[in-house]
Amino acid sequence: MLRAFKVYDVEKVRQDFPILSRKVNGKQLVYFDNAATAQKPNAVIEAIEQYYKGYNANIHRGIHRLAEEATLAYEDSRRKVAKFAGVKPQELVFTRGTTESLNLIMYAYAMTHLKKGDEIIATVMEHHSNIVPWFLLQSRLGVKVKFVDIDDGGKLRMEQYEQMITDKTKIITVTHASNVLGTINPVKDICKIAKKAGAISIVDGAQAVPHMEVDIKEIGCDFYCFSGHKMLGPTGIGALAGRQYLLEEMEPFHGGGEMIREVHLDGAKWNDLPWKFEAGTPNIEGGIILSKAAEYLQSLGMDKIRKHEEMITAYAMERLSEIPDAVIYGPESPKERGGVVSFNVADIHPHDMATILDSEGIAIRSGHHCAQPLIERLKVPGTSRASFYLYNTPQEVDLFIEAVKQARKVFKLPEPKGSGNQLPAH
Ligand code: PMP
Repeated sequence: MLRAFKVYDVEKVRQDFPILSRKVNGKQLVYFDNAATAQKPNAVIEAIEQYYKGYNANIHRGIHRLAEEATLAYEDSRRKVAKFAGVKPQELVFTRGTTESLNLIMYAYAMTHLKKGDEIIATVMEHHSNIVPWFLLQSRLGVKVKFVDIDDGGKLRMEQYEQMITDKTKIITVTHASNVLGTINPVKDICKIAKKAGAISIVDGAQAVPHMEVDIKEIGCDFYCFSGHKMLGPTGIGALAGRQYLLEEMEPFHGGGEMIREVHLDGAKWNDLPWKFEAGTPNIEGGIILSKAAEYLQSLGMDKIRKHEEMITAYAMERLSEIPDAVIYGPESPKERGGVVSFNVADIHPHDMATILDSEGIAIRSGHHCAQPLIERLKVPGTSRASFYLYNTPQEVDLFIEAVKQARKVFKLPEPKGSGNQLPAH
């Protein structure tokens, strides 16, 4: 049954996102690929235009008016984003996104602080960006990477931390929320475990910061990474938040302009935080606009966004489970997961499912979702993934369910009993 629920006026919210009114294959777009990237509100699109039309200039160097305005906007944005995430501005390094933030930690921290034989504990549900940098380190330094497993409900087997930790454990890294299972991990507990073991904790917040209230200091991690494009901002901007003392003792990541205080023929001195890690001309537009995205999220309220997504997720899971041969991966309770629903229907290949849904104007993702070890662990060729955001509606879930049923018909699977809501073709 189509459930009526309202945390905020979602129709009004949708009007802020011009792309949502476009058609795909003659049908109204249903955008359920938010875990890959989010759509942008007018506030963000217009701020980009204002920047390029009004005060585009390089920052931190020129003393002319435009350079001053751009620099002020960039640093003001950093302060706002830092506040949004619960850290000090000097602890917030702008990067290209989560992937670059994790690589920054690997090159600028781990390469110099770890040695052969040291151990890193990750989990089987990590995105490749929180696995491959550690494999690079493994081949360079000879460190060992271990992976905490999941249980049948898609949750981390927490007891394995104690079993895996040794006196060689130097880093514990974990995703805040899985981009495949949706699982929200107990990152606060994991950071406590790391601290007790004398290890550095890293949290991949790519799937958390856009969707729930995140207070990095409260979590108690040493490093936290997130991406702007998944939180309504542009691509090519994101952040690494790190404890000040760690960032201070770390060597720079890239060398070049901006990250230096002075350079002479016999050497150089590094700039203060956070600029020490921002060599070269940065993504000025992205840095300035990231706070516009954060402001939009705050204007709705992160608690309300979370609640809205929780209800959409609960409804999607309920409707999917009406389909007898649908398997949903990850925790059963929507309270324990973000707005990500990975599923398979009988042996329909996820790419076929995504193609059929696309013909109905519905955008989902299919495949391994850059989490191949997890897909292997689940023993499936891949999954179809519907992922929701603050602008999605239960009516869109109904259209999605009708399209999944359509896919079953294409593959000549028997009709499910009790077909639930029948919406007119859109
Ligand atoms: N971690 C997780 C959990 C993700 O979902 C993603 C993006 N799919 C990333 C890391 C990488 O983010 P980006 O591509 O923005 O660097």
